[in-house]
Amino acid sequence: MNILVIDDSKLMRKMVSAIIADAGDQPYVASGAEQALLMLDKKNIELIFMDVEMPKMNGFELTRLIRSKKRSWIPIIFLTASTDDSHLTKGIESGGDDYIMKPINSVVLAAKIKAMARIVNMKKELDTVNRQLLRLTNVDALTGIMNRRGFNESLKRDWKNHTRERKEISMVFLDIDNFKAFNDNYGHQRGDECLKQFSAVINTQLKRPMDTLARYGGEEFVIILPNTTLDGAALIGSYIIDALADAKIEHQYSPVAPYLTASMGITSSRFSAKNENMFIQQADQAVYKAKKQGRNRYSVYEPL
Ligand SMILES: [Mg+2]
Repeated sequence: MNILVIDDSKLMRKMVSAIIADAGDQPYVASGAEQALLMLDKKNIELIFMDVEMPKMNGFELTRLIRSKKRSWIPIIFLTASTDDSHLTKGIESGGDDYIMKPINSVVLAAKIKAMARIVNMKKELDTVNRQLLRLTNVDALTGIMNRRGFNESLKRDWKNHTRERKEISMVFLDIDNFKAFNDNYGHQRGDECLKQFSAVINTQLKRPMDTLARYGGEEFVIILPNTTLDGAALIGSYIIDALADAKIEHQYSPVAPYLTASMGITSSRFSAKNENMFIQQADQAVYKAKKQGRNRYSVYEPL
């Protein structure tokens, strides 16, 4: 573990560092708040030993500052000469996790390092699992692309960037043509297979990591294209039509073509949607138009 010792006494810093090194861990030192914050920015500190009695900013104050700044939790153990019980309460309330009485007993200190290392490792495992879970909750289990929830999060982020940077953002809303007839005739298993193939074909048409393809629900998909003009989005629409024609996913029950096609609605921020929801509505309206015009095409949103 990387352990930071914050103490205004050089002797204490030396002594505690020596015990840490003996325990097989990596000590770093800081004489006060300024150095400590610098260290926390530079090094991946996993545990802090914090002197309480320091000039300028004391250990409690510094702990409060660290807790308010740092997003991830680092255990903080106070080193204090005070034997007052209320002192302990104050320390825990300021965000500390434990404390050791001065004069420092090297056996006690080494034991606390071991105990904290266990907690730190548990926290790391928990963080990893949480990250995996978070990713899973945003992914559509069938197609492996983003689900509605992931889409909502991405759009929120991209829309925010758009309003800040004032760059055009576009959206393509896709609806597979005659998917009900596909399911009714080929069965749901092949229907699922078809959704997988469809999303894979669409995915190949998106070249930038900033683009998001998501399954909106059922046979509806949506693409968010940040920093993309309406013409750019229309180009992607025509590429998708070509790609589906090349892929030829069989659909003999479609009146449109012997293979799977889609109707698409395209919009961009140039139509001044007030918010994300209105933006989606515009794209959805354009899909309706594409369907009315005969499907297997894209249609651009037209303001009334
Ligand atoms: Mg001191």
